[in-house]
Amino acid sequence: MSTSPSDDAVRRAGAILTVNLGAIAANWRGLRDAGRAGGRPIDCAAVLKADAYGTGAAIVGSRLAAEGCRHFFVAHIEEGIALRAALPEPPIYVLNGLLPGTEGDFVEHRLTPVLNHLAQLNTWRAAAQRFDRALDAVIHIDTGMHRLGFGPDETQVLMNERARLRGLRLALLMSHLVVSEEPGNPINGEQLSRFRAFVKAMPGAPASLANSSGIFLGPDYHFDLLRPGAALYGINPRPGQPNPMLLTVTLDARILQVRRIDALQTVGYGAAWRSARPSRVATIALGYADGYFRNLINRTYVHLAGRRVPVIGRISMDLVTLDVTDVPEELSQPGSTVEILGSHLTADDLADHARTNAYEIMTALGHRYARVYVDHPESAA
Ligand SMILES: *Cc1c(COP(=O)(O)O)cnc(C)c1O
Repeated sequence: MSTSPSDDAVRRAGAILTVNLGAIAANWRGLRDAGRAGGRPIDCAAVLKADAYGTGAAIVGSRLAAEGCRHFFVAHIEEGIALRAALPEPPIYVLNGLLPGTEGDFVEHRLTPVLNHLAQLNTWRAAAQRFDRALDAVIHIDTGMHRLGFGPDETQVLMNERARLRGLRLALLMSHLVVSEEPGNPINGEQLSRFRAFVKAMPGAPASLANSSGIFLGPDYHFDLLRPGAALYGINPRPGQPNPMLLTVTLDARILQVRRIDALQTVGYGAAWRSARPSRVATIALGYADGYFRNLINRTYVHLAGRRVPVIGRISMDLVTLDVTDVPEELSQPGSTVEILGSHLTADDLADHARTNAYEIMTALGHRYARVYVDHPESAA
């Protein structure tokens, strides 16, 4: 399967996003092996919501299935339907659950709803009766997020009355951690003990608690199925510590034009940057419509031939301006390639500059880039 653009599209592209499927597969193997280090046959799923965090759910899902991944999560049913076309066999769990009236769609596309409250469970049971088959069900209990999931009272009802699940096949018990990227936070332990009590009361069903960072909280958090998203794509699951994951995406943009300006000239909308000296300004072909956030104004940089180059002035919809005064002219010409994301500046780094997290940087990656898929086992995308 290939969704890579033609050579022509790459030649014409203003910006090119390169996704290294081999690095994503290596990250998945690393997480799975971390789970298995304790000797238990733990499985590792892949969370592919938001188009696999901007990297392309169908192609990433296919690559991970080939690697041995057998469980996939998305957020929306529509994402599940699209993914089903690429992955005919494995279970696809829909985290947002079952909106009233969509039961038939779940059955038709063989998607498994994550049941987040009793009414959803009842609807799904009724569907099992109507379609006369034992439908798979995932039960998601809320152990502290207070967002989706069975609340404490409804969880207690389930624990007391197993008959509420009659007609369904309990495929998974799950909950979601609130502060897994903070190993010292006591909320982790509180959620763990609530989840343990639930799992104990529901013997026989596999259980899943750990997202990416949760995997690094240690084997107590692993249960039967790991549920990473971010770390697959190279986002650091242990903020503040060295990133154990491989880089999976690079984003390059091309210089469209280079201008010489005098000292004390302003660049861009709002005259938000002013040259202190005679300068060379390069304009590149991406902007906020491509997920390059407007609040990056005057506080980040890109790399040109390995050199750090400041982003100056306001981010436009389609354009970003750079101060290339200190870069040799022959390296900064129309058509020259600038690294926006890559080994010099990762999504985590850019997220720091944009005062957000790498999840938002990745899921905002634009749809005007030429997307190139490569498959190298190591990080050089
Ligand atoms: C998004 C999500 C995940 C994956 O989280 P990461 O931090 O990206 O690993 C796991 N479980 C649930 C319920 C989620 O919503």
